[in-house]
Amino acid sequence: MVRAEGVHKSFGAAHILKGIDLEVAPREVFCLVGPSGSGKSTFLRCINHLEKIDGGRLSVDGHLVGYRQKGDKLYELKEKEVAAQRKDIGMVFQRFNLFPHMTALANVMEAPVQVKGESRAVARERARKLLDRVGLADKAGHYPSQLSGGQQQRVAIARALAMEPKLMLFDEPTSALDPELVGEVLDVMRDLAESGMTMIVVTHEMGFAREVGDSLVFMDDGVVVESGRPRDVLGNPQHVRTQAFLSKVL
Ligand code: ATP
Ligand code: MG
Repeated sequence: MVRAEGVHKSFGAAHILKGIDLEVAPREVFCLVGPSGSGKSTFLRCINHLEKIDGGRLSVDGHLVGYRQKGDKLYELKEKEVAAQRKDIGMVFQRFNLFPHMTALANVMEAPVQVKGESRAVARERARKLLDRVGLADKAGHYPSQLSGGQQQRVAIARALAMEPKLMLFDEPTSALDPELVGEVLDVMRDLAESGMTMIVVTHEMGFAREVGDSLVFMDDGVVVESGRPRDVLGNPQHVRTQAFLSKVL
């Protein structure tokens, strides 16, 4: 579903991604862990067209992100084509980023109506189902300020799902939450994983990674240091940098 081959990204003189190689299979829950500043968010942002890579190849569902290849030449995609690629990718951030002036229901309806031109009736029906799926059927009429952080994050997940994405990206979705609210968000993510969604999850929740993850990559300083099944990498890290990191977070 996602393939990165030698992906590089710099901001000015700062070389952030230094040749990322990884592959995420369809229906896989792929966990990405690593110290602050190692480039995890930058990598997710590259997948979702929020940043452009400087080198290597990055593809989602067999299509190069942001480019089309003809022969051995690459052509940048037009804005419309980029928008079409992005529709298939949902992203959930650390901060919930809901529209504050809209109810939970309206937040979930917004993208299908605005981006896909779907009718409000169809979008509303799906939004209600999604809010039900994340356990918030009774909060449809609430505004973000009337919801807890965990509830807001579950609305954010429902909102991303409303576009019926093929791939979901989670960037530390629980790290801004009070500890007692983390579980309800992880439960929604677990259900989503069980439904077969392909997910890339940046997280410090090692329990979630171990139980729900199919693969885990440890990234440091812009490279993949170690990867494997979560229980292997977490239980028996091979690299000193992985060991040092895990000794701090586990
Ligand atoms: P954290 O765990 O703290 O979220 P991270 O692994 O997600 O860290 P990134 O956010 O990808 O790390 O950042 C990697 C490096 O890239 C950091 O040094 C950051 O300052 C730098 N960086 C990220 N975005 C930009 C930008 N738009 N312009 C300049 N530098 C940036
Ligand atoms: Mg980050």
